[in-house]
Amino acid sequence: MTTKSTDNPYRSLPAVNEFLQVPTLATLIAMHGHDSVVAAVRAELADVRRRLSLGVLPDGECSSDAIAQKAAARLDRDAQPRLRAVINATGIVLHTNLGRAPMAALAAQAAHDAACGYLNLELDLDTGKRSSRQNPIRDWVTQLTGAESATVVNNNAAATVIALRTLAQGREVIVSRGQLIEIGGSFRIPDIMALSGATLREVGTTNITRAADYEKAIGPATAALMQIHTSNYRIAGFTEAVTTAELVALGKKHNLPVIDDIGSGALIDYQRFGLAGEPMARASIADGADLVLFSGDKLLGGPQAGILAGRLELIHRIEKDPLMRAFRCDKMTLAALEATLRIYLNEELALREIPILHLLGLSADDLRIRAESLAVRLKAIPGWASVEAKPDVAYVGGGSLPDQHLSTWVVEAKPGVCSDDDLAQRLRVGTPAVMARIRDGRLVFDVRTIFASQTDALVTAVTQAMPNA
Ligand SMILES: *Cc1c(COP(=O)(O)O)cnc(C)c1O
Repeated sequence: MTTKSTDNPYRSLPAVNEFLQVPTLATLIAMHGHDSVVAAVRAELADVRRRLSLGVLPDGECSSDAIAQKAAARLDRDAQPRLRAVINATGIVLHTNLGRAPMAALAAQAAHDAACGYLNLELDLDTGKRSSRQNPIRDWVTQLTGAESATVVNNNAAATVIALRTLAQGREVIVSRGQLIEIGGSFRIPDIMALSGATLREVGTTNITRAADYEKAIGPATAALMQIHTSNYRIAGFTEAVTTAELVALGKKHNLPVIDDIGSGALIDYQRFGLAGEPMARASIADGADLVLFSGDKLLGGPQAGILAGRLELIHRIEKDPLMRAFRCDKMTLAALEATLRIYLNEELALREIPILHLLGLSADDLRIRAESLAVRLKAIPGWASVEAKPDVAYVGGGSLPDQHLSTWVVEAKPGVCSDDDLAQRLRVGTPAVMARIRDGRLVFDVRTIFASQTDALVTAVTQAMPNA
């Protein structure tokens, strides 16, 4: 095939079928299928026609080889997965937009094995009889929290809906005005309450709620008392709230169950990382809460899930709710969650193997050394105005611990050949994608959330993203 250049460039453009003979495209047909290749060629031809009509087509771009090459590049681009690995240089350990908690390798392996083969998801291997997919999680959660029983659904939002529906449909649930949270993504307690068919009975004020406020609201319509952890905000100053134990005492007195939505689901004490105020599932059960709800992929560090732990009879009723069928987890999630929970049986192992616990446990010295060495490597890339390792602060994120910062180390780098936004954009679309913070014209790479194994890939990604000076 030759480039035809005549007076009428439109007529001279090769027909689509002619292209399919070009060797590069023949190979692509084997890879992407006939229809995709035809579509890509059509799109490139349309582009050539458009540019011809504008009179802006440089010589040679009409040739079938040139068009074939561009079609090949387009196919390559379009075939890229939309979900891609991202190096998290934001320092935010639980970044909702980046998939919250990264899972432990053992958990990922369990999900992989569950995905690729068969497993005893609903089969008791001892008896050969059908069993519940909830049994394995129930076993580990009860061991780890001290609860009588437990069950799991797709996320904590689903856990809240199914708990309220089972325990309080058509009746009232009493909640403090200081705890009517919105988590984001339209998860608002009043709406969730309405959705589940329960009636919200607000008591107290934003800053002060006392046991007497709950008690005054208790009546024949009351089905439960609920406490919700204010995960993503804090009420500070002149405040008063009822403790879990006080709420439980009130529930006992009036024969009402206490539901405790603790949010993040800490299975170990986060004070070891200098992070105070995160309720622990075990403590809530020990205080006597009848039902404790928490996420699997926040501070627990596992897959997305909503765990309900508590009294046997309540869990039993929840599992009988028809919504359970809609909310239940799939085999990969269950396998990953089981593996994650088993790691927690040994706290030392958890601190090492659960990625977020490992990241939160990095010492200032570790972080400084890593930031300094990353700064040296980034400095070697031409195109910076300045590169500097320095101490900084970051947040846990994921709607947890909003008022507590973590001290960390970062590399702060000011590009000299393009703007901060430009470089950040180029880093995001690179392979692997890199998400950094932007501040005062600089990119801020927080080493806490950059896994040590990602350093080389990060340096390569930055090298490729930096425009040639
Ligand atoms: C995050 C959170 C939820 C929602 O949990 P998901 O797992 O994101 O559905 C509910 N309640 C509280 C207190 C939370 O912090």
